Amino acid sequence: MFNAALLAAFDDSPRTQAAFGAAAPALVGWTAEHCPELLCRACQAAAPALVGWTAEHCPELLCRACQGLFAAHRRNAAEPPDAFDGRLDDPGLLEGLASTFPRNWVFSASHLNSYARCPWLFFARYLLKLEPLIQPEVQMTPTDRGRFCHAVLYRVLSSLRQRLGSLPPLAELSEEDLTAGLAEAVAAEKQRLAAAAVHSQLWEMQVQYWHDLLRAYLLDQRDTDGAVRPRYFELGFGLSDRLGERTDPASVREPVTIDAGGQEIRLRGKIDRVDELAGQDGPALMAVDYKTGYILQPGRMLEGLDVQLALYIKALEVMFGKPVVGGAYHDLRENCHRLFTVADPLKTRGDAPKEYSQQLALMMDCVGRYVRGMREGRFDALPSAGCPSWCPYRSICHYSDHRARRKGTLAGSAGEGSDG
Ligand code: SF4
Repeated sequence: MFNAALLAAFDDSPRTQAAFGAAAPALVGWTAEHCPELLCRACQAAAPALVGWTAEHCPELLCRACQGLFAAHRRNAAEPPDAFDGRLDDPGLLEGLASTFPRNWVFSASHLNSYARCPWLFFARYLLKLEPLIQPEVQMTPTDRGRFCHAVLYRVLSSLRQRLGSLPPLAELSEEDLTAGLAEAVAAEKQRLAAAAVHSQLWEMQVQYWHDLLRAYLLDQRDTDGAVRPRYFELGFGLSDRLGERTDPASVREPVTIDAGGQEIRLRGKIDRVDELAGQDGPALMAVDYKTGYILQPGRMLEGLDVQLALYIKALEVMFGKPVVGGAYHDLRENCHRLFTVADPLKTRGDAPKEYSQQLALMMDCVGRYVRGMREGRFDALPSAGCPSWCPYRSICHYSDHRARRKGTLAGSAGEGSDG
């Protein structure tokens, strides 16, 4: 084929051109392997002609290639982030953002945590509404197992409450009551999800695994957090379309309005559990969020990179007008707590931060900054603490460590917005 192409090159009939076209890939492949410098020189020599030909016959192609090169150049320039890095500057878009945030947007903890983690992630997920492709999974996905555990714990506690009239402090529940309630709840949830189980044996094992973890968690709760009285389960606010679907009867349809660093924002969400504790001035509330995955270190929480508990504390204050002494993440896998409270009223494991109210105020200042950042179109592709391995937008956000280093120091913190 190689020889035929060379021989045919002596005339320019259609037959010759076809033969040459057929041989070209092999020719280029062979040259690239055996004489790469030749290919390089040929490309350099051909470039002006190639560009000239493209400009004449497909100018739009050349235009798109140039735009791509320019965008790559801007993304990697050691200059403050601009429109090529996620900072919107189109007047129409900015006007749209200013009229959306915060007045016409109902925030959730996930929105604000996404923005804190990476403004571009928030932009892709919640403004462009880009959904990651769903891969078929043999095992329970992290989302599935989170849902499963939440649903089981909701069933256990709400059925006990229904049976007993109101739920007493955990220490007053017998081990039999808790374990029987758990077995019933797991069986009901397993049945509900049976159709989604791909491999029945694997599914059985996973359900048993989570049953055992939840049993250990509930019994440990009864022994160590005994004075606590779980009061509400899956307490929703601002979920008008989903009320009734595994929500506490005390839930409200309307979003809750809270103050975030000097500006009012509307909030929606569902708090996994709200505990009631005996406080000095009467009963006080505490928000509990169950976790089956990774939890940020308390220090990162106080830096404003995880504002979920702070938002829930504020929402509870508004909903019930009672003192709220803090919030806690309950890690169901490790069976440990991460607390953010006035003190450590439960005497449980975990470090309670000092200066609670100042820290709460600082976290709410961060929320205010994020909202201002959204309003001002700041969606930099600069994660605050590295890109999480699961981020589905990696293939389109053009993130690279090199680029982040060049831009990062010039960008300021996530969501740094003007104070005006
Ligand atoms: S990969 Fe990193 S930079 Fe890109 S969207 Fe995700 S967190 Fe942001």
